[in-house]
Amino acid sequence: MQKVSVDKDKCVGCGLCEQSCPEVFEIGDDGVAHVKANSCNLHDLKEIASNCPVEAIKIS
Ligand code: SF4
Repeated sequence: MQKVSVDKDKCVGCGLCEQSCPEVFEIGDDGVAHVKANSCNLHDLKEIASNCPVEAIKIS
């Protein structure tokens, strides 16, 4: 089972991941992205990770 994580020190809270897959990503009150789930049947998480401007999303 894959694991999705966001490096909170790198994330700039741009919101792109949340827009791309709100099932998995959510911008928290702290202004950075949080992970709600480790998989999504609707969206390509690897592509979303590669689109993060600061490469904060890891899928392992
Ligand atoms: S796309 Fe990257 S920088 Fe933007 S909110 Fe998501 S994790 Fe943070």
